[in-house]
Amino acid sequence: MRIIHIAAEFAPIAKAGGLGEVVTGLCRQLSLQHEEVEIIIPKYSFIPDHLLQNLAKEKFEFPCLEASRFHANTMWSAKVENCQLHLLETDHPSGYFQRPQIYGYPDDLAKFLYFSKAALEYLKLRGEKIDILHLHEWHTALCAPLVKEEMAQQLQVRSVIFTIHNLEYQGKCVPKDLDSLGVPGKKYLQPSRLQDNVHPDTLNLLKGAIVYSDAITTVSPTYAQEILTPHFGCHLQQTLLQNKQKLQGILNGIDQKLWDPSKDPSIKAHFSADDSLMQIEQAKTANKMVLAKKFGLDMAKRPWIGAVTRLVPQKGPELLEEALHYTIQSEGVFLLLGSSPIDSIQEHFEALKKRYKDHPQVLIQLDYDEPLAHQIYAALDFTLIPSHFEPCGLTQLISMRYGTIPIVRSTGGLKDTVLDYDDYKVPNASRNGFTFSNPKELQAVLQRAFALQKKDLDSFHSLMKRAMQRDSSWKKPAAAYRQLYLTHVPEARQPLYSI
Ligand code: ADP
Repeated sequence: MRIIHIAAEFAPIAKAGGLGEVVTGLCRQLSLQHEEVEIIIPKYSFIPDHLLQNLAKEKFEFPCLEASRFHANTMWSAKVENCQLHLLETDHPSGYFQRPQIYGYPDDLAKFLYFSKAALEYLKLRGEKIDILHLHEWHTALCAPLVKEEMAQQLQVRSVIFTIHNLEYQGKCVPKDLDSLGVPGKKYLQPSRLQDNVHPDTLNLLKGAIVYSDAITTVSPTYAQEILTPHFGCHLQQTLLQNKQKLQGILNGIDQKLWDPSKDPSIKAHFSADDSLMQIEQAKTANKMVLAKKFGLDMAKRPWIGAVTRLVPQKGPELLEEALHYTIQSEGVFLLLGSSPIDSIQEHFEALKKRYKDHPQVLIQLDYDEPLAHQIYAALDFTLIPSHFEPCGLTQLISMRYGTIPIVRSTGGLKDTVLDYDDYKVPNASRNGFTFSNPKELQAVLQRAFALQKKDLDSFHSLMKRAMQRDSSWKKPAAAYRQLYLTHVPEARQPLYSI
C-alpha cells in the first residue's frame, strides 16, 4: 500500500505533545511491516538540518494561492526514523513556519489551512496514486473535503482516514478563509458539510473531516464511545453518531526506543523489567538523587509523585494542586513539569512556584523540557494523571515503562490502560496502577497508593514490575491500523504472486 500521512508534528524533530509521538510511532512501525509510508509536515525553521538525514530539495517547487496571490513553495525530503519525510517550505510573507514553536500564534488557523492546501497541491503535482491518505487533527482536516470535492478529479486517492487525537480542538473559520485559498467557502456552510453545529456562520474543520473521510479513528476504544455522548462530544456528538459506522478506537502505543529506561541517555541509572526489584529500586533511588541534588529536594521523603503535562483544564490542574498539598502533608515529594498556553493558569502556577520556592518537598518547573521529563519519569514512584477527559494519554504508558505507578482518573485511554490494584473483578496480573472516577475521591486514591508503598513494599514492588512488563509498543496498534487500511485496499491482502 502507498500510505501518505499529513500532520503538524513528527517526533522528535517537531513535537509539541502526544500527536508527534503517535505519528512517528505509527509510521515507523508501518514501514517496518514493509508498507511504503511517507509523511508531509511543515519545514519548521527550528528543526536543525543535521537531524535530517539525506536532506534534499525535491524537484517540486510550486505555487499555492492565498489572499489573491500565489506564494512559492518548495518541498524538501529527508529520511527520518526509517520514514520518508517531506517538509514543506514556503516563502509566504507571514513566515508561517519561521517561528520558535509549532503552535500558539494568532494566525495558526490560516497557517494550517495554507499547509493543508499546499500539501495537496504537491501531491497533485506528483500525480501518483495514493492508497491511503491519513490525516491527523484539525490542522490537516481541510484536506478531507478538498480531496473528496475540490480536487477529486486531480488527485487519485483511494481512501481518506482521519484520526481524532483530541476532539476539543476543532479548528473553526469563516467561509472567506476558504475563499482566500480559492475554495468556495459558502458551499461548505451547510449542516451536512462543514457548518458548525453551534455557530451557524462558522465552518468547523474537524466536522468536515468526520463527514468526508472514509474512516475515522480515535486513539482509544473508550474515548471512541465517550465522544458519542453530549458530555464528551464537544457539540460534535450528533455528527459522530451519524458517522458512527466509520468510527473506531485504536489505542496508541509509545516509542519503546525513545522511552527505554535501560538505555535512556537522559537518565543516570539504567534499569529494565528484567532486573531484580533490588536493582530497579537502587536505580530509581540514584535517579532521585540527581534531581534531589539539582533542585534541593529531600531524599528521605517518600513517596515521590509527580506529573509531566500540559497545564490546560483537560488535565485537571486544580487536582494536581490539591495533590501537591496532600503530598506535602503526607511527607512526600511532589514534582510538576508543565507549561500552559493559558495565561491565567500559567500565572497561577507561577505564583505556586514562588510560594514553594526552595521547599524540599516541591519542584515546579514551568517549561517544556524533554530531558527533564525523562529524568522525572525515571525517579518517581507514582505519576498522577487526573484528567477530566483523556483521548489516550501517553504519560501513563511512559510511566509504567519506567516503573512509576500511574494514579489516574478512569476516563478514555486511561481507563483502557490502567487497572486498579484493588479491583478484584480483573485478574491480578492485569492490575497495574490506581484509578478513581470522581474528583472527590482524589485524596482517598492517593492515600491508598501511598499506603501500599509504605506498608506493603513487596506488593508495591510486584505492582511496579507488572507495570514495567506491560507491552505498550506500536506492534498491536500498527497492526490494527494496517487492518483498517486493508479494508479500503482489499487487493493488498493478496500476495501478487506466489512462489
Ligand atoms: P497531550 O498530547 O494531551 O499533551 P499525552 O499524554 O498524549 O498528552 O502526551 C504528552 C507528551 O508530551 C508526553 O510525551 C509527555 O512526556 C510530553 N510532555 C508534556 N508536557 C511536557 C513538558 N512540560 N516537558 C516535556 N515533555 C512534556
